[in-house]
Amino acid sequence: MIGAGGVATVAAFKIAQNADVFTEFMIASRRKTKCDKIVEDIHKAGYKLDIKTAQVDADDVEQLKTLFNDFKPELVINLALPYQDLTIMDACLACGCNYLDTANYEPKDEAHFEYSWQWAYRERFEKAGLTAILGCGFDPGVTSIYTAYAAKHHFKEIQYLDIVDCNAGDHHKAFATNFNPEINIREITQKGLYWENGKWVETEPLEIHKDLTYPEIGPRDSYLLHHEEIESLVINYPTIKRARFWMTFGQQYLKHLEVIQNIGMSRIDEVEYEAPLVDGSGVAKVKIVPLQFLKAVLPNPQDLGENYEGQTSIGCRIRGIGNDGKEHTYYVYNNCSHRAAYEETGMQGVSYTTGVPAMIGAMMFCKGLWRKPGVYNVEEFDPDPFMEQLNKQGLPWHEIHDGDLEL
Ligand code: NDP
Repeated sequence: MIGAGGVATVAAFKIAQNADVFTEFMIASRRKTKCDKIVEDIHKAGYKLDIKTAQVDADDVEQLKTLFNDFKPELVINLALPYQDLTIMDACLACGCNYLDTANYEPKDEAHFEYSWQWAYRERFEKAGLTAILGCGFDPGVTSIYTAYAAKHHFKEIQYLDIVDCNAGDHHKAFATNFNPEINIREITQKGLYWENGKWVETEPLEIHKDLTYPEIGPRDSYLLHHEEIESLVINYPTIKRARFWMTFGQQYLKHLEVIQNIGMSRIDEVEYEAPLVDGSGVAKVKIVPLQFLKAVLPNPQDLGENYEGQTSIGCRIRGIGNDGKEHTYYVYNNCSHRAAYEETGMQGVSYTTGVPAMIGAMMFCKGLWRKPGVYNVEEFDPDPFMEQLNKQGLPWHEIHDGDLEL
């Protein structure tokens, strides 16, 4: 596993809990101390799996190749940042390793994500006889598997798909993001995008919003965003007439986000800054990226867990033609308690809902259930064994048939 952040910590705990499937395991990241700390916490919690750790810069293909040739992993779980997807895929191809991630590639200097860069690896993975599993977190990930499950069991034709993501938690901080702040702020400040009648429709950032009611939570203002799983789902389910993604934000969060943008702190280009040298011997002109600097002063998402109350609720609201030829609606969702996630893994619910599916995807691969040479989004595999594991591994799902979808 590459990365030692919030998501990686949860995935590591879950891997240690499933030591009958995962027999040999290594955590490698930019800082080895963070990997060692995860192992220490896992062993303190009573899990016995022997876990190796290593330092690696995942931007550097040669370093990755040396590491992979040494440890010889069958599967590399990429839980670093989207910037490292391609270097890790290159090293996997060079060393004969299979690949899994939770977020699609983004170039560092452009706030833009799409699957084309990773889909371009299809032929090379196929020829090498290696499997690459893309987007195996919650969204993308579980939401794509929910859609595949609905298509397999409940619908002849899925026509309308709305993915709804609510975080009704309270971490008692004025402003914090629930996963890597740089990636999070880049995602939210982009233009909105949804699929309708065979084409993409663009909106201004956070332009479209409405109240949606979430189970056990109630109504929350939900904003239409572009989200990566829509891109593959409309290709894999061509009967979809409209596909959208909604996420809740509180007014306090949006107020801070607006100020951050207005004062230029969300910029991702380099600015020159004159900084004093640590030894006091003078000053140096340095280049900093404001959004990366902001990350350094914001709360670390990994530290939010302790006082986090409330829960997340993420699901798919689907309308289409059922197997009986009549129109039906279907809502499948999971609610996850931040406190329960923290008590189990020391991390909050957003890291939990991403790390658990990453482990289950790896389990599907290791058990031989999700193995086919090439590069695939998760909905292209059998959803049933994955759905079964969600119930066993801490993310149980619920269904509402023929309810009011509000959309
Ligand atoms: P964090 O920032 O907490 O963790 C990222 C980890 O990767 C850190 O340990 C970091 O090192 C390490 N890292 C960064 N750059 C390098 C590098 N060049 N070489 C080696 N290691 C590196 O992020 P999260 O845990 O919150 O998120 C992890 C991933 O999960 C992200 O890609 C994110 O987009 C994705 N995600 C997906 C979701 C989904 O539902 N599909 C939801 C939430 C997140 P260091 O600790 O030293 O900074």
